[in-house]
Amino acid sequence: METLINLCNLNCIPYKEKHRIKYETYFKMGGIVNLLISPVNIKQLADVVSEAKKRNIKYKLIGFSSNLLILDSVEYGVFISTKNVTCINEECNRIDVSSGYSLSELVRLMLLRGVSGYEGLEGIPGSIGGAVVMNAGAYGYEISDKIIDVTFVDSVGRVRTKPREYFDFRFRTSIFKTNTDLCILSVGFDLENENGLSKSEIANKIEVFHIARHSYQEFSYPNLGSMFSTRQDMYREILRHGVKQKFSYWFLKLLIKNPLVKRFNRKKPTNNIFNKLIFNFYEVDYPVSHKSINILINNGDVTDVDILKHMKNMQRLYKENTCIENEICIENAIIIPEDIKSYIS
Ligand SMILES: Cc1cc2nc3c(=O)[nH]c(=O)nc-3n(C[C@H](O)[C@H](O)[C@H](O)COP(=O)(O)OP(=O)(O)OC[C@H]3O[C@@H](n4cnc5c(N)ncnc54)[C@H](O)[C@@H]3O)c2cc1C
Repeated sequence: METLINLCNLNCIPYKEKHRIKYETYFKMGGIVNLLISPVNIKQLADVVSEAKKRNIKYKLIGFSSNLLILDSVEYGVFISTKNVTCINEECNRIDVSSGYSLSELVRLMLLRGVSGYEGLEGIPGSIGGAVVMNAGAYGYEISDKIIDVTFVDSVGRVRTKPREYFDFRFRTSIFKTNTDLCILSVGFDLENENGLSKSEIANKIEVFHIARHSYQEFSYPNLGSMFSTRQDMYREILRHGVKQKFSYWFLKLLIKNPLVKRFNRKKPTNNIFNKLIFNFYEVDYPVSHKSINILINNGDVTDVDILKHMKNMQRLYKENTCIENEICIENAIIIPEDIKSYIS
């Protein structure tokens, strides 16, 4: 770690030692980080990552941590944050955006340029790097749709640029997800307005998607979006076993999810009744979001163990073999308490 600190000192790269990361994470949780490095440009990011690779130092890259569960009771080694790497370079038909730039801001930039194809990404709270890793998307849009190429640090520390096809983008995944050794530096996006929409049509779509998010996205408590990446109705899936469960689900669905009741509840959409239905049939010992049982929230009273236990329980209730989308950050941990170990093995 000393070599990374020396590199930071030599190149004026900001860093913090023995830093409690809790107040900076999206979920407002997280323990002590021995070294948190926050480069401010692409060169600094590439240098730090290459040096760590050369010296075989374990590190974890973080963007806005909106998909990362960083645990309170774990002590971490090195984090490299891309948050301050936010340069933009625009030319002819492309725009190059650094990995720490905000995805929501990109949607705004595209609106100002009158470029369509980014509207559905409205409201996804990640950085460009984090979004590319998991090919973030919604409403039939995916960030990879408009990517021309990606510049990254490869597993031996070289900076390379490859076209979109190289990264095997599929539903919520890419080679960055399976090969965590790669660090995204910047992404080249297409500025062509393929659909020929006008600015006001693009703005209108952004607004529609923004409003739609209010009906199912938790906005009050810190959360990590959907625990499971699914197009299915989680309530129907959980309540699929047993006649009583199925009957109760369909009865309530007809009663509550019809256009009339939905319209009546439109100012404060909730799934509280379906949550109660789940609690009635199964043991769920966790404060779930009233918006959806698929959202993990931090209400300030929950511990690491409560969270991990709840995740396992939800996985068992939903589908045992389904991957949890939220990533439990453990790969650069130095000290893991015993009671946590049993949940992450
Ligand atoms: C309220 C809410 C709503 C959401 N809605 C959606 C949605 O509709 N659709 C969707 O797809 N997702 C959604 N998400 C999930 C999340 O916002 C996205 O996955 C987001 O793109 C993650 O970006 P991030 O910067 O927060 O990544 P982080 O959480 O910081 O990191 C995620 C992963 O990417 C890696 N990583 C980060 N930066 C880099 C980099 N530069 N190079 C290589 N690896 C890197 C990290 O190591 C980590 O493994 C939602 C989350 C929340 C909290």
